[in-house]
Amino acid sequence: MTSITLHGAAGEIGGNKILLEDKDTNVFLDFGLSFGRFGSYFTPYLQPRKWSYISDFIKLGLLPDLEGLYRADYENRFRKSKPEPEYDGIILSHPHLDHAGHISFVRADIPLYCSMGGKAILQALEETSAGFHEFTRLKEAFKLRPFKRDSTKMTRDKETKTERKINIFTNQTKIDNLTVHSFPVDHSICGANAFVIETSAGNIVYTGDIRFHGRRSNYSHFFVEKAAEFDPVLLLSEGTRVSERTSFGELDLERELKKEMSDIKGLVIVNFPARDTDRMRSFIEAAKSVGRKLVINMKQAYTLSVLERNGVSEVPRLDEVGFYIPKKSWGVLNNDDYPHNIQLADYSKWEQEMLNKSNAVTDEEIRENPQEYVFRCDFYELKYLFDVQPPEGSIYIKSVTEPFDEEMEIEKAKANNWLELFNLLPYIPLHCSGHASGAEIQDMIQKIAPKKVIPIHTEEPEGFRAFDAEIVIKQLGEKYQLN
Ligand SMILES: [Zn+2]
Ligand SMILES: [Zn+2]
Repeated sequence: MTSITLHGAAGEIGGNKILLEDKDTNVFLDFGLSFGRFGSYFTPYLQPRKWSYISDFIKLGLLPDLEGLYRADYENRFRKSKPEPEYDGIILSHPHLDHAGHISFVRADIPLYCSMGGKAILQALEETSAGFHEFTRLKEAFKLRPFKRDSTKMTRDKETKTERKINIFTNQTKIDNLTVHSFPVDHSICGANAFVIETSAGNIVYTGDIRFHGRRSNYSHFFVEKAAEFDPVLLLSEGTRVSERTSFGELDLERELKKEMSDIKGLVIVNFPARDTDRMRSFIEAAKSVGRKLVINMKQAYTLSVLERNGVSEVPRLDEVGFYIPKKSWGVLNNDDYPHNIQLADYSKWEQEMLNKSNAVTDEEIRENPQEYVFRCDFYELKYLFDVQPPEGSIYIKSVTEPFDEEMEIEKAKANNWLELFNLLPYIPLHCSGHASGAEIQDMIQKIAPKKVIPIHTEEPEGFRAFDAEIVIKQLGEKYQLN
Protein backbone atom coordinates (compact mmCIF):
# COMPACT_ATOMS: atom_id res chain seq x y z
CA MET A 1 0.00 0.00 0.00
CA THR A 2 1.32 3.42 -0.97
CA SER A 3 -0.19 6.74 0.08
CA ILE A 4 0.40 10.47 0.30
CA THR A 5 -0.97 12.65 3.10
CA LEU A 6 -0.63 16.43 3.13
CA HIS A 7 0.00 17.41 6.75
CA GLY A 8 0.63 20.93 5.45
CA ALA A 9 0.77 22.82 2.11
CA ALA A 10 -2.88 21.90 1.36
CA GLY A 11 -4.52 25.12 0.15
CA GLU A 12 -1.75 27.21 1.71
CA ILE A 13 1.65 28.54 0.67
CA GLY A 14 4.26 26.61 2.65
CA GLY A 15 4.05 24.45 5.74
CA ASN A 16 5.01 21.45 3.55
CA LYS A 17 4.84 18.24 5.60
CA ILE A 18 4.00 15.56 3.07
CA LEU A 19 3.87 12.01 4.38
CA LEU A 20 4.76 9.27 1.92
CA GLU A 21 3.95 5.75 3.16
CA ASP A 22 5.11 2.86 1.03
CA LYS A 23 4.76 -0.61 2.54
CA ASP A 24 6.86 -0.36 5.73
CA THR A 25 8.69 2.81 4.76
CA ASN A 26 7.41 6.14 6.01
CA VAL A 27 9.11 9.38 5.03
CA PHE A 28 8.20 13.04 5.14
CA LEU A 29 8.88 15.31 2.20
CA ASP A 30 9.83 18.48 4.10
CA PHE A 31 8.69 19.32 7.62
CA GLY A 32 7.99 23.01 7.43
CA LEU A 33 6.29 25.70 9.44
CA SER A 34 2.97 27.00 8.19
CA PHE A 35 3.47 30.76 8.52
CA GLY A 36 -0.17 31.48 7.68
CA ARG A 37 -1.64 29.15 10.30
CA PHE A 38 1.00 30.17 12.89
CA GLY A 39 0.27 33.85 12.27
CA SER A 40 -3.47 33.35 12.67
CA TYR A 41 -2.90 32.41 16.34
CA PHE A 42 0.38 34.01 17.43
CA THR A 43 1.81 37.53 17.48
CA PRO A 44 5.26 38.76 18.53
CA TYR A 45 3.84 39.07 22.07
CA LEU A 46 1.63 35.96 22.09
CA GLN A 47 4.19 33.24 21.61
CA PRO A 48 4.06 29.43 21.98
CA ARG A 49 4.90 27.86 25.36
CA LYS A 50 8.09 25.83 25.43
CA TRP A 51 6.89 23.00 27.67
CA SER A 52 3.76 22.31 25.62
CA TYR A 53 5.07 23.20 22.16
CA ILE A 54 4.06 19.94 20.48
CA SER A 55 0.67 19.36 22.11
CA ASP A 56 -0.37 23.00 21.53
CA PHE A 57 0.81 22.86 17.90
CA ILE A 58 -1.11 19.61 17.33
CA LYS A 59 -4.29 21.25 18.67
CA LEU A 60 -3.72 24.26 16.39
CA GLY A 61 -3.20 22.05 13.31
CA LEU A 62 0.43 23.17 13.02
CA LEU A 63 1.82 19.66 13.61
CA PRO A 64 0.30 16.26 12.72
CA ASP A 65 -0.87 14.07 15.61
CA LEU A 66 1.46 11.13 14.96
CA GLU A 67 3.41 8.94 17.36
CA GLY A 68 6.99 7.79 16.91
CA LEU A 69 7.84 11.09 15.20
CA TYR A 70 8.60 13.68 17.85
CA ARG A 71 11.53 14.08 20.22
CA ALA A 72 10.96 12.48 23.59
CA ASP A 73 11.95 15.45 25.78
CA TYR A 74 9.01 17.51 24.44
CA GLU A 75 6.57 14.65 23.69
CA ASN A 76 6.92 13.16 27.18
CA ARG A 77 5.43 16.36 28.61
CA PHE A 78 1.99 15.31 27.31
CA ARG A 79 2.16 11.61 26.38
CA LYS A 80 4.56 8.70 26.59
CA SER A 81 7.04 8.82 23.76
CA LYS A 82 7.55 5.59 21.76
CA PRO A 83 10.91 3.92 22.32
CA GLU A 84 11.60 3.53 18.59
CA PRO A 85 11.00 5.92 15.68
CA GLU A 86 8.19 5.03 13.25
CA TYR A 87 9.51 7.18 10.42
CA ASP A 88 12.54 6.54 8.25
CA GLY A 89 13.58 10.04 7.30
CA ILE A 90 12.80 13.63 6.41
CA ILE A 91 13.66 14.50 2.81
CA LEU A 92 14.31 18.23 2.70
CA SER A 93 13.76 20.06 -0.59
CA HIS A 94 15.40 23.32 0.59
CA PRO A 95 16.15 25.20 3.80
CA HIS A 96 13.38 27.85 3.74
CA LEU A 97 11.55 27.69 7.07
CA ASP A 98 8.18 26.92 5.46
CA HIS A 99 9.85 23.61 4.49
CA ALA A 100 12.36 23.07 7.31
CA GLY A 101 11.05 25.06 10.29
CA HIS A 102 9.55 22.17 12.30
CA ILE A 103 12.41 19.69 11.84
CA SER A 104 13.54 20.87 15.29
CA PHE A 105 10.61 18.89 16.79
CA VAL A 106 11.51 15.64 15.02
CA ARG A 107 13.42 13.05 17.07
CA ALA A 108 17.16 12.85 16.47
CA ASP A 109 17.04 9.18 15.45
CA ILE A 110 15.01 10.08 12.34
CA PRO A 111 17.68 11.08 9.79
CA LEU A 112 17.55 14.16 7.63
CA TYR A 113 18.27 13.85 3.90
CA CYS A 114 19.33 17.11 2.28
CA SER A 115 21.81 18.85 -0.01
CA MET A 116 25.12 20.22 1.27
CA GLY A 117 23.83 23.76 0.70
CA GLY A 118 20.70 22.92 2.69
CA LYS A 119 22.72 21.55 5.56
CA ALA A 120 25.07 24.56 5.66
CA ILE A 121 22.19 27.06 5.69
CA LEU A 122 20.44 25.18 8.52
CA GLN A 123 23.69 25.05 10.51
CA ALA A 124 24.27 28.78 10.08
CA LEU A 125 20.69 29.52 11.14
CA GLU A 126 21.08 27.29 14.18
CA GLU A 127 24.26 29.07 15.26
CA THR A 128 23.19 32.66 14.63
CA SER A 129 19.48 32.81 15.33
CA ALA A 130 17.73 33.30 18.65
CA GLY A 131 14.66 31.24 17.62
CA PHE A 132 13.99 27.55 18.36
CA HIS A 133 16.28 26.14 15.67
CA GLU A 134 17.63 22.68 16.45
CA PHE A 135 17.76 21.08 13.02
CA THR A 136 21.10 19.32 13.27
CA ARG A 137 21.90 19.46 17.00
CA LEU A 138 19.16 18.87 19.56
CA LYS A 139 19.63 20.37 23.02
CA GLU A 140 17.86 18.12 25.50
CA ALA A 141 15.14 20.09 27.30
CA PHE A 142 13.67 19.68 30.82
CA LYS A 143 16.71 17.82 32.14
CA LEU A 144 18.39 18.24 35.53
CA ARG A 145 22.01 17.84 36.59
CA PRO A 146 23.75 18.21 39.98
CA PHE A 147 24.48 21.88 40.71
CA LYS A 148 28.11 21.01 41.45
CA ARG A 149 29.93 17.74 41.45
CA ASP A 150 29.00 15.77 44.62
CA SER A 151 26.16 18.20 45.25
CA THR A 152 22.61 17.05 46.01
CA LYS A 153 21.18 20.36 44.82
CA MET A 154 20.01 20.17 41.20
CA THR A 155 20.06 22.71 38.39
CA ARG A 156 18.77 22.82 34.80
CA ASP A 157 21.04 21.01 32.37
CA LYS A 158 21.56 23.10 29.24
CA GLU A 159 24.53 21.19 27.90
CA THR A 160 23.26 17.77 26.73
CA LYS A 161 23.08 17.69 22.94
CA THR A 162 22.34 14.97 20.39
CA GLU A 163 23.51 15.22 16.80
CA ARG A 164 20.97 14.27 14.15
CA LYS A 165 22.20 11.97 11.43
CA ILE A 166 22.36 13.95 8.19
CA ASN A 167 22.68 12.22 4.83
CA ILE A 168 23.74 14.35 1.89
CA PHE A 169 21.96 13.45 -1.36
CA THR A 170 23.80 11.44 -3.88
CA ASN A 171 22.30 11.00 -7.36
CA GLN A 172 20.33 8.06 -6.00
CA THR A 173 19.63 7.84 -2.31
CA LYS A 174 18.15 4.65 -0.89
CA ILE A 175 15.79 4.94 2.05
CA ASP A 176 14.61 1.43 2.87
CA ASN A 177 12.62 0.30 -0.17
CA LEU A 178 12.44 3.79 -1.69
CA THR A 179 14.92 5.17 -4.22
CA VAL A 180 15.14 8.94 -4.19
CA HIS A 181 16.58 10.76 -7.21
CA SER A 182 17.39 14.36 -6.34
CA PHE A 183 17.79 17.17 -8.88
CA PRO A 184 19.07 20.64 -8.00
CA VAL A 185 16.54 23.25 -9.14
CA ASP A 186 16.31 27.01 -9.47
CA HIS A 187 14.74 28.73 -6.44
CA SER A 188 15.45 31.74 -4.21
CA ILE A 189 17.83 29.94 -1.85
CA CYS A 190 20.83 27.73 -2.50
CA GLY A 191 20.64 23.96 -2.10
CA ALA A 192 17.09 23.61 -3.53
CA ASN A 193 16.12 20.21 -4.93
CA ALA A 194 13.23 18.48 -6.64
CA PHE A 195 12.77 14.71 -6.54
CA VAL A 196 11.65 11.62 -8.32
CA ILE A 197 10.90 8.85 -5.82
CA GLU A 198 10.56 5.27 -6.95
CA THR A 199 7.82 3.59 -4.89
CA SER A 200 6.07 0.24 -5.17
CA ALA A 201 3.07 2.07 -6.72
CA GLY A 202 5.14 3.84 -9.39
CA ASN A 203 7.26 6.96 -9.55
CA ILE A 204 6.28 10.10 -7.66
CA VAL A 205 7.65 13.54 -8.54
CA TYR A 206 7.90 16.34 -5.97
CA THR A 207 8.87 19.83 -7.18
CA GLY A 208 9.70 21.41 -3.82
CA ASP A 209 9.73 25.13 -4.63
CA ILE A 210 10.79 25.79 -8.21
CA ARG A 211 11.20 28.55 -10.78
CA PHE A 212 12.43 28.83 -14.33
CA HIS A 213 13.51 32.47 -14.47
CA GLY A 214 16.45 32.67 -12.06
CA ARG A 215 20.18 32.15 -12.52
CA ARG A 216 19.76 28.36 -12.56
CA SER A 217 16.82 27.91 -14.90
CA ASN A 218 18.86 25.26 -16.75
CA TYR A 219 18.75 23.12 -13.57
CA SER A 220 14.95 23.27 -13.48
CA HIS A 221 14.66 22.44 -17.16
CA PHE A 222 17.02 19.48 -16.73
CA PHE A 223 14.90 18.20 -13.81
CA VAL A 224 11.71 18.43 -15.91
CA GLU A 225 13.35 16.54 -18.75
CA LYS A 226 14.59 13.77 -16.42
CA ALA A 227 11.32 13.55 -14.45
CA ALA A 228 9.46 12.93 -17.71
CA GLU A 229 11.67 9.90 -18.41
CA PHE A 230 10.40 8.25 -15.22
CA ASP A 231 6.83 8.19 -16.55
CA PRO A 232 5.47 9.26 -13.13
CA VAL A 233 2.10 8.24 -11.71
CA LEU A 234 1.89 11.37 -9.58
CA LEU A 235 3.28 14.92 -9.55
CA LEU A 236 3.18 16.99 -6.36
CA SER A 237 3.51 20.46 -7.84
CA GLU A 238 3.96 23.77 -6.09
CA GLY A 239 1.58 26.47 -7.32
CA THR A 240 2.43 29.65 -5.40
CA ARG A 241 1.91 31.85 -8.48
CA VAL A 242 -0.50 29.63 -10.41
CA SER A 243 -2.72 32.57 -11.35
CA GLU A 244 0.13 34.69 -12.73
CA ARG A 245 1.17 34.41 -16.34
CA THR A 246 4.64 36.00 -16.49
CA SER A 247 7.88 36.15 -14.52
CA PHE A 248 10.41 38.96 -14.18
CA GLY A 249 13.80 37.23 -14.37
CA GLU A 250 16.82 37.48 -12.07
CA LEU A 251 19.07 38.59 -14.92
CA ASP A 252 16.54 41.30 -15.91
CA LEU A 253 16.70 42.40 -12.29
CA GLU A 254 20.51 42.58 -12.36
CA ARG A 255 20.37 44.71 -15.51
CA GLU A 256 17.83 47.09 -13.91
CA LEU A 257 19.96 47.35 -10.76
CA LYS A 258 22.94 48.45 -12.82
CA LYS A 259 20.82 51.18 -14.45
CA GLU A 260 19.43 52.41 -11.13
CA MET A 261 22.86 52.53 -9.47
CA SER A 262 24.65 54.39 -12.24
CA ASP A 263 25.16 58.13 -11.63
CA ILE A 264 24.25 57.91 -7.95
CA LYS A 265 26.44 60.24 -5.90
CA GLY A 266 25.32 59.24 -2.39
CA LEU A 267 24.92 55.86 -0.75
CA VAL A 268 23.02 53.04 -2.44
CA ILE A 269 20.97 51.31 0.27
CA VAL A 270 19.29 48.02 -0.57
CA ASN A 271 17.14 45.32 0.98
CA PHE A 272 17.01 41.77 -0.32
CA PRO A 273 16.18 38.38 1.28
CA ALA A 274 18.93 37.40 3.75
CA ARG A 275 19.69 33.91 2.44
CA ASP A 276 19.04 34.39 -1.28
CA THR A 277 22.61 34.06 -2.50
CA ASP A 278 21.57 34.38 -6.16
CA ARG A 279 20.02 37.79 -5.40
CA MET A 280 23.20 38.64 -3.53
CA ARG A 281 25.07 37.79 -6.74
CA SER A 282 22.89 40.28 -8.67
CA PHE A 283 23.77 43.00 -6.16
CA ILE A 284 27.48 42.11 -6.18
CA GLU A 285 27.60 42.35 -9.97
CA ALA A 286 25.57 45.57 -10.12
CA ALA A 287 27.74 47.16 -7.40
CA LYS A 288 30.90 46.12 -9.24
CA SER A 289 29.65 47.63 -12.51
CA VAL A 290 29.48 51.09 -10.87
CA GLY A 291 32.73 50.77 -8.89
CA ARG A 292 31.07 50.00 -5.55
CA LYS A 293 31.23 47.12 -3.10
CA LEU A 294 28.25 45.33 -1.61
CA VAL A 295 28.19 45.39 2.20
CA ILE A 296 26.02 42.66 3.74
CA ASN A 297 25.22 42.01 7.41
CA MET A 298 27.13 39.79 9.83
CA LYS A 299 24.65 36.87 9.72
CA GLN A 300 24.84 36.79 5.93
CA ALA A 301 28.64 36.94 6.06
CA TYR A 302 28.73 34.13 8.61
CA THR A 303 26.40 32.06 6.41
CA LEU A 304 28.77 32.55 3.45
CA SER A 305 31.65 31.35 5.62
CA VAL A 306 29.70 28.21 6.66
CA LEU A 307 28.81 27.51 3.01
CA GLU A 308 32.48 27.93 2.12
CA ARG A 309 33.56 25.60 4.94
CA ASN A 310 31.15 22.95 3.62
CA GLY A 311 32.52 23.25 0.10
CA VAL A 312 29.33 24.70 -1.42
CA SER A 313 30.26 26.40 -4.67
CA GLU A 314 27.94 28.54 -6.83
CA VAL A 315 27.44 31.02 -3.98
CA PRO A 316 29.34 34.29 -3.52
CA ARG A 317 32.61 34.00 -1.62
CA LEU A 318 33.03 36.01 1.55
CA ASP A 319 35.95 37.93 0.02
CA GLU A 320 33.69 39.27 -2.76
CA VAL A 321 31.75 41.42 -0.29
CA GLY A 322 32.21 43.62 2.72
CA PHE A 323 30.13 43.14 5.84
CA TYR A 324 28.88 45.71 8.27
CA ILE A 325 29.74 45.67 11.96
CA PRO A 326 27.02 47.62 13.74
CA LYS A 327 27.47 49.26 17.09
CA LYS A 328 25.41 47.31 19.60
CA SER A 329 24.21 47.75 23.19
CA TRP A 330 27.02 49.90 24.74
CA GLY A 331 28.20 51.03 21.31
CA VAL A 332 31.87 51.12 22.29
CA LEU A 333 33.50 49.03 19.56
CA ASN A 334 36.81 50.65 18.49
CA ASN A 335 36.45 53.19 21.33
CA ASP A 336 39.82 53.01 23.06
CA ASP A 337 38.48 54.59 26.24
CA TYR A 338 37.20 51.07 26.93
CA PRO A 339 39.30 47.92 27.37
CA HIS A 340 39.23 45.47 24.46
CA ASN A 341 37.19 42.85 26.33
CA ILE A 342 34.49 45.44 27.15
CA GLN A 343 34.37 46.51 23.50
CA LEU A 344 33.78 42.88 22.52
CA ALA A 345 31.20 42.15 25.22
CA ASP A 346 28.30 43.32 23.02
CA TYR A 347 28.97 40.59 20.47
CA SER A 348 28.19 36.88 20.63
CA LYS A 349 30.86 34.26 20.06
CA TRP A 350 30.22 33.78 16.34
CA GLU A 351 30.14 37.56 15.83
CA GLN A 352 33.47 37.98 17.62
CA GLU A 353 34.93 35.46 15.17
CA MET A 354 34.00 37.84 12.34
CA LEU A 355 35.24 41.12 13.83
CA ASN A 356 38.87 40.72 12.83
CA LYS A 357 38.27 39.81 9.20
CA SER A 358 39.74 42.27 6.72
CA ASN A 359 36.46 42.88 4.88
CA ALA A 360 34.60 44.08 7.98
CA VAL A 361 33.21 47.58 7.38
CA THR A 362 32.36 50.16 10.07
CA ASP A 363 29.80 52.96 9.91
CA GLU A 364 32.67 55.44 9.90
CA GLU A 365 34.03 53.99 6.64
CA ILE A 366 30.60 54.19 4.99
CA ARG A 367 30.06 57.76 6.27
CA GLU A 368 33.38 58.90 4.87
CA ASN A 369 33.04 57.25 1.43
CA PRO A 370 29.35 56.54 0.73
CA GLN A 371 29.99 56.49 -3.03
CA GLU A 372 32.09 53.32 -2.59
CA TYR A 373 29.37 51.14 -1.09
CA VAL A 374 26.05 49.39 -1.65
CA PHE A 375 24.74 48.97 1.88
CA ARG A 376 22.26 46.16 2.59
CA CYS A 377 19.80 47.24 5.25
CA ASP A 378 16.65 45.27 6.02
CA PHE A 379 13.64 46.40 8.06
CA TYR A 380 15.25 45.51 11.40
CA GLU A 381 18.46 47.31 10.49
CA LEU A 382 16.90 50.67 9.55
CA LYS A 383 18.10 52.02 12.93
CA TYR A 384 21.68 51.79 11.67
CA LEU A 385 20.93 54.61 9.23
CA PHE A 386 21.52 56.95 12.21
CA ASP A 387 25.16 55.76 12.26
CA VAL A 388 25.66 55.41 8.51
CA GLN A 389 24.12 58.87 7.80
CA PRO A 390 23.19 58.54 4.10
CA PRO A 391 24.02 61.88 2.42
CA GLU A 392 21.84 63.76 -0.04
CA GLY A 393 21.56 61.89 -3.34
CA SER A 394 21.28 58.45 -1.71
CA ILE A 395 18.72 55.87 -2.91
CA TYR A 396 16.90 52.87 -1.45
CA ILE A 397 16.23 49.78 -3.58
CA LYS A 398 13.69 47.36 -2.17
CA SER A 399 14.21 43.86 -3.54
CA VAL A 400 11.83 41.86 -1.37
CA THR A 401 8.26 40.71 -1.88
CA GLU A 402 5.43 43.23 -1.45
CA PRO A 403 3.24 42.78 1.67
CA PHE A 404 0.63 40.01 1.46
CA ASP A 405 -0.82 40.21 4.96
CA GLU A 406 -1.83 42.75 7.56
CA GLU A 407 1.36 42.48 9.62
CA MET A 408 3.54 43.07 6.57
CA GLU A 409 1.43 46.13 5.66
CA ILE A 410 2.10 47.57 9.13
CA GLU A 411 5.81 46.83 8.73
CA LYS A 412 5.86 48.54 5.34
CA ALA A 413 4.23 51.68 6.79
CA LYS A 414 6.89 51.80 9.53
CA ALA A 415 9.71 51.22 7.03
CA ASN A 416 8.37 54.13 4.97
CA ASN A 417 8.51 56.40 8.03
CA TRP A 418 12.22 55.60 8.39
CA LEU A 419 12.88 56.09 4.69
CA GLU A 420 11.09 59.43 4.76
CA LEU A 421 13.18 60.53 7.75
CA PHE A 422 16.35 59.85 5.74
CA ASN A 423 15.02 61.34 2.49
CA LEU A 424 14.98 57.96 0.75
CA LEU A 425 11.44 58.09 -0.65
CA PRO A 426 10.26 57.14 -3.15
CA TYR A 427 12.12 53.84 -2.93
CA ILE A 428 12.87 51.76 -6.03
CA PRO A 429 11.01 48.40 -6.06
CA LEU A 430 12.87 45.64 -7.93
CA HIS A 431 12.05 42.05 -7.04
CA CYS A 432 11.91 38.70 -8.78
CA SER A 433 9.89 35.80 -7.40
CA GLY A 434 11.30 32.44 -6.29
CA HIS A 435 8.33 30.64 -7.85
CA ALA A 436 7.26 29.59 -11.32
CA SER A 437 4.36 31.40 -13.00
CA GLY A 438 1.16 29.56 -13.94
CA ALA A 439 2.34 29.41 -17.55
CA GLU A 440 5.62 27.79 -16.48
CA ILE A 441 3.80 25.28 -14.25
CA GLN A 442 1.49 24.41 -17.14
CA ASP A 443 4.51 23.85 -19.38
CA MET A 444 6.20 21.70 -16.70
CA ILE A 445 3.08 19.53 -16.24
CA GLN A 446 2.75 19.09 -19.97
CA LYS A 447 6.37 17.95 -20.31
CA ILE A 448 6.44 15.64 -17.28
CA ALA A 449 3.02 14.25 -18.26
CA PRO A 450 2.19 12.55 -14.93
CA LYS A 451 -0.96 10.42 -14.56
CA LYS A 452 -2.21 12.73 -11.79
CA VAL A 453 -1.26 16.06 -10.21
CA ILE A 454 -1.77 17.12 -6.60
CA PRO A 455 -1.40 20.91 -6.25
CA ILE A 456 0.46 21.96 -3.11
CA HIS A 457 2.00 25.15 -1.72
CA THR A 458 -0.77 27.30 -3.21
CA GLU A 459 -3.85 29.16 -2.01
CA GLU A 460 -5.49 28.43 -5.35
CA PRO A 461 -5.32 24.65 -5.98
CA GLU A 462 -8.45 25.03 -8.15
CA GLY A 463 -6.33 27.13 -10.52
CA PHE A 464 -4.67 23.88 -11.67
CA ARG A 465 -7.97 22.73 -13.20
CA ALA A 466 -7.24 25.01 -16.15
CA PHE A 467 -4.35 22.71 -17.10
CA ASP A 468 -4.60 19.67 -19.29
CA ALA A 469 -4.06 17.09 -16.53
CA GLU A 470 -5.98 15.04 -14.01
CA ILE A 471 -5.95 17.20 -10.89
CA VAL A 472 -6.54 15.74 -7.41
CA ILE A 473 -7.15 18.28 -4.64
CA LYS A 474 -6.53 17.07 -1.09
CA GLN A 475 -7.40 18.67 2.24
CA LEU A 476 -5.12 18.90 5.27
CA GLY A 477 -4.58 15.39 6.71
CA GLU A 478 -6.60 13.62 3.99
CA LYS A 479 -4.91 10.45 2.74
CA TYR A 480 -4.52 9.81 -1.00
CA GLN A 481 -4.15 6.11 -1.76
CA LEU A 482 -2.04 5.26 -4.81
CA ASN A 483 -2.77 1.54 -4.84
ZN1 LIG B 1 7.98 27.33 0.18
ZN1 LIG C 1 11.14 28.19 -0.78
